[in-house]
Amino acid sequence: MTDDARLPVPDVVEWPIFPFEGEFQVRKIEPPFAEERLRHGDPGGPPCGCETEDADEWIWSDGTWKVTRIRFGEAEAGFPSYMLGTVEHMDFGDMSEELAAQFGVMSLRMERALMTLPNVGRVHINRWGDGGAHMHVWFLGRPFGAWQFSGYMLPLWGFILPGLDNERLAENDRLVAEALAQAGSF
Ligand SMILES: [Zn+2]
Repeated sequence: MTDDARLPVPDVVEWPIFPFEGEFQVRKIEPPFAEERLRHGDPGGPPCGCETEDADEWIWSDGTWKVTRIRFGEAEAGFPSYMLGTVEHMDFGDMSEELAAQFGVMSLRMERALMTLPNVGRVHINRWGDGGAHMHVWFLGRPFGAWQFSGYMLPLWGFILPGLDNERLAENDRLVAEALAQAGSF
């Protein structure tokens, strides 16, 4: 492959779960940086959101864990979208094994909490961590029966689908917080 050659377009653009249609070309691949890019909350990087965020915006917390609502860009998601993170600033790999064991239990509780919400067919759990150095894991409630939003395309659909209305968002927040509170403490 020459430096300016583009890789061929893969069949995935024809899959029914792919959100876009039309003519595509693969973006030119830039050479990697010599160092990992500094993320929000990395030492020497831009500040982490945890330094300025208002705990009133959390929908639930037990003092160790917090749950916040995910927005896609500036818009609310069209399906239940929540982030589980630690209250204390740490990266995923910084968790003690004891805390990681709690994370396993919290993942189960989040899955069960989101499954109690109306119109959720399955809960997708994603962890990337390329934007922020603060431990955070996404829990996305894929709409019931909506196979077109399956798998790893769901986050992309989050930028496309019309957002849930404020009443539904508030009720979902309340139901998730209630389910987590009822699930117990550590
Ligand atoms: Zn942080």
